[in-house]
Amino acid sequence: MESSTSKKEEIRTRFAPSPTGFLQLGNLRTALFTYLFAKKNNGVFILRIEDTDKERSKPEYEKAILETLKWTGLLWDEGPEADGDYGPYRQSEKLDVYEKYLKQLLNEDKAFYCFCSEEEIETYRQYRLSQGQSAAYSGKCREITLSQAQQKLSKGEKAIIRFKNKIAEPVIFNDLIRGKTEFDPHLIGDFSIARDLRSPLYNFSCVIDDFDMKITHVIRGEDHISNTPKQIMLQKAFAFTSPKYAHLPMILAPDRSKLSKRHGAVSALTYRDEGYLPEALINFLVLLGWHPEDDREIFALKGLIKEFSLERVQKSGAIFNQQRLDWLNGFYLRNLSLENLTGKCLPFLIQSGLIKVSQESVPVQLIPVAIEVPWKEQEYKIVKTKEIINFDYLKKIVSLYQQRLKKLSEIIELVNFFFEEKIIFSIDLLKWKEMTDEEIKECLEVLEKILREVSPENWQKENLENILLPEAEKIRPKVQQADFGVKDRGDRGYLLWPLRVALSGKQFSAGPFEIADVLGKDKTIKRIQQAIKII
Ligand code: GLU
Repeated sequence: MESSTSKKEEIRTRFAPSPTGFLQLGNLRTALFTYLFAKKNNGVFILRIEDTDKERSKPEYEKAILETLKWTGLLWDEGPEADGDYGPYRQSEKLDVYEKYLKQLLNEDKAFYCFCSEEEIETYRQYRLSQGQSAAYSGKCREITLSQAQQKLSKGEKAIIRFKNKIAEPVIFNDLIRGKTEFDPHLIGDFSIARDLRSPLYNFSCVIDDFDMKITHVIRGEDHISNTPKQIMLQKAFAFTSPKYAHLPMILAPDRSKLSKRHGAVSALTYRDEGYLPEALINFLVLLGWHPEDDREIFALKGLIKEFSLERVQKSGAIFNQQRLDWLNGFYLRNLSLENLTGKCLPFLIQSGLIKVSQESVPVQLIPVAIEVPWKEQEYKIVKTKEIINFDYLKKIVSLYQQRLKKLSEIIELVNFFFEEKIIFSIDLLKWKEMTDEEIKECLEVLEKILREVSPENWQKENLENILLPEAEKIRPKVQQADFGVKDRGDRGYLLWPLRVALSGKQFSAGPFEIADVLGKDKTIKRIQQAIKII
């Protein structure tokens, strides 16, 4: 067990995003660690939507948050769409509750209305900072009684509600990751808790909800650590028991600066849309701050539930490493069955316009990225060539790239030449080393001649290899011809490079035999002829 929580007490954790934007990788990692901690302890993982910021909260962001969690498999036990006994789980639906608690603090003289203008507060803040002092509130309005305040409010004066901070001793808590953590309440001062009775601010609604929802453990990013003493002070004012806190290290860019858009500070769904697998993302995220006991790197969500512990979460910042994410994604892509991988590539190929699913067989809208559909035997129309191919053919194409794919979206650029009637490339690309145009032409003509002889039944990668490799090994660079011994092999590139380029039009691609195999005899010969024509 991670904590001293008695065995009988049910562990209840929550992930509490604000729907003011898409879930970024950092938020998703918080959700993951919270989920893992709950599941490891047979506890409850709650999703709470903190949407009290009326201007910035948007339903589409909430929708995207739910979608992100579902995509990564971090399914919540209580929350929107899941119900539970401690709802509502959306703060905007709980305003009556917050109002009741705000009134309680005001009536007990533990909160007060503050009539200071924003400019006044800002000027005072800057002045204090310039003196090297804390920027805590001046205390100007703290003696205004509730009835005086109500009179002012009835005259239309503007005010916010502040906590009346009467705490003298340091606020101390034992962070489950960072250990004993201490804050001086004087430096915090009378902090704001609501804009008005119907507009609670984060620290206030969070405390009420953590209490109402019987949260035992709050796991969140270190950027919230300065909120924790405020929340503890509020809990004391209400005589609520405090949950245990664990603040996760920040995720940093490789140069240890704040994470920028270039390094992962983007919506987690962007990763899905680029073709990262949720398994890879989860595996990547768990290693951002947590380490297993040994040096294993591959972890699936299920196994993680057993292995995860807050004790193995580091205090120092975790470095975002794009290469590791790509490597992990490549690993998971290589381990998919070809059937599954092809199914996952299909939406990317459709979206790029390379392939169109014939409307009669599968409606396009039924092809989500992450869901596995039994694609077999369906027929797909290729728009550009007006041919119809079946799923097995697509599988063959994808199989050529399974070993090298780092993300699904790469498949478009890798395989587009299979779907094009005529491929376009420069003569220079056909050239291996110092080959002349004449030599390229000769070589392509030889290839055409040899390949014409191959019967369609024998048109398989292995056969093509057996036929062409001995030919290729006969060819040697002119400069070496004089001392070319019997045992020496030629430079295969002189035959195979022009062949590969003629078939793919690309500087890098799968090998020529594999491509020829997939293209079939007619198309292979046609492409060789097209290449001869451009010389
Ligand atoms: N709504 C806050 C956020 O999104 C929650 C912080 C917390 O977990 O308490 O950062």
